[in-house]
Amino acid sequence: MSRVVVVGAGLGGLAAAARLAAAGHRVALYERATTHGGKLGTFTRDGFTFGTGPSLLTLPHVLAALFAETGGPADLDVLPVDPVCSYRFADGTRLDMPHDPALVPAALDAALGPGRGASWSRLHERSARLWELVGDPVLRAPFDGLRDLARLGGPGDLGLVAPWRTLSGLGRRLLPDPRLRTWLDRYATYSGSDPRRTPSVLSVTPYVEQAHGGWYVRGGLRRIADAVLDRCRELGVEVHLGAEVTRITTVRGRATGIEVDGDRVPADVVVANADAARVYGELVRDPAADRPRRAVRRATRSLAGFVLLLGLDGREPGPAHRVRFPRDHHAEFDAIFGGRPGPVPDPTVYVHAPDDPALRPIDASEGWFVLVNAPTHDPGRGVDWDAPGLGEAYADRVLAALAERGEDVRGRVRFREVRTPADLERDTGAPGGAIYGTASHGPRAALLRPANRSPVAGLFLVGGSAHPGGGLPLVLHSAEIVAGLVGPAVSAAARTPGGPS
Ligand SMILES: Cc1cc2nc3c(=O)[nH]c(=O)nc-3n(C[C@H](O)[C@H](O)[C@H](O)COP(=O)(O)OP(=O)(O)OC[C@H]3O[C@@H](n4cnc5c(N)ncnc54)[C@H](O)[C@@H]3O)c2cc1C
Repeated sequence: MSRVVVVGAGLGGLAAAARLAAAGHRVALYERATTHGGKLGTFTRDGFTFGTGPSLLTLPHVLAALFAETGGPADLDVLPVDPVCSYRFADGTRLDMPHDPALVPAALDAALGPGRGASWSRLHERSARLWELVGDPVLRAPFDGLRDLARLGGPGDLGLVAPWRTLSGLGRRLLPDPRLRTWLDRYATYSGSDPRRTPSVLSVTPYVEQAHGGWYVRGGLRRIADAVLDRCRELGVEVHLGAEVTRITTVRGRATGIEVDGDRVPADVVVANADAARVYGELVRDPAADRPRRAVRRATRSLAGFVLLLGLDGREPGPAHRVRFPRDHHAEFDAIFGGRPGPVPDPTVYVHAPDDPALRPIDASEGWFVLVNAPTHDPGRGVDWDAPGLGEAYADRVLAALAERGEDVRGRVRFREVRTPADLERDTGAPGGAIYGTASHGPRAALLRPANRSPVAGLFLVGGSAHPGGGLPLVLHSAEIVAGLVGPAVSAAARTPGGPS
């Protein structure tokens, strides 16, 4: 049995703690915030409950596997979202994407015109082959170098992965309708990136959403974090909230424990769920970590999010997930990743309007989560989201943009909570409020994120800023990979001299 310390109670930290405890290790978890869940957060006011992070669960079997492999199913009600999303383009066209992929071609033909369904099917079939290639082999395995990239397959596979092609480039090649290209480009933001720089391998994201569906958890996705925390406690994980780890201690390139509240906690294994930039930039000072430290310093941070939580009078049921595109969605990425970052003047607006009685005070009310992509909080070099008045003024702009696109709720707002990238940084420790760690810009970036096994012996990275990336299912994969790398506890009788403890 090893003494394992987990730094951070985001979903990755919680899932790794549960898996390692189930594997027989003694696990203690330290979280700087006073609550668990990290970006999988929640906010309540005046009888309304909001999720502050994820609103759509994909690959639900990955979550089910976590529970099945750590003691049995959890008491979560996972429901299909149909339509998985309702899109409205700048020309006013509305497209409701069905949950069932078999219905998508007809829905596209009906909404956008004949032939659109066939072009989507070509993309979908191509992405299915790509998923076979990178799904399990890359996303469920430790992947930490160009050598691993090389084992991806033969020359035909290289043409499919096409690392030289961007997601936007793939759209131009396969999707004649500009509205479908806009739809495809949006998936780059699911890894916090610009579609004009993101490799086309990211086309597996819409494939996964369509082939495995989009899902909601009754009561809100935050319930997932609650359920994994419960599982950790059942398995005997020691959970310390409000406990900021200030250092991961090492001796000659090996992790020896952590420092928290001025105390030293020894450990055989340290699993860091904090953002990789913080782990290498602040928590570990050992020279063994110099290489990844340089890499995370050089990398571009992923985009952040500007969030409005709206308590609305009255209820107007409609699709739970809505995306309202602007006239020029590429201008959005120029504002975020260009030389002079600024709040996007005419952003794509995403609305989550769950029809869930558990989340509203009375039936004649509803809570909306509104999200737009935003540059990170970077006072000095970029946007200072704490500048007086900026958050409120930008909230007005976002509500006006929604109104221009047919959803004017300004007369129904009972209250609004503004959460800028600076708030996300304060709440979750994500540098600048970057949602996905580093952006997947460049041919190798999507597949070569900070590795789960760090060069410091006994130190492992779990969570959205490490391999295989952000989003709930990938974060759960990272926990599975880390648990596999650490391995099960070995009983004293079975232990061989010099073997694992
Ligand atoms: C607005 C928003 C919308 C999103 N929408 C979706 C969606 O619809 N679907 C989806 O799948 N994903 C979505 N995501 C992404 C998803 O939420 C994240 O990828 C995932 O929750 C990240 O989990 P994580 O394990 O990386 O940990 P995080 O949630 O980043 O948590 C890390 C934890 O470590 C703690 N920590 C940091 N430093 C220390 C320290 N020194 N000591 C102790 N603790 C520390 C932090 O406080 C935090 O609790 C969204 C995220 C956001 C913010």
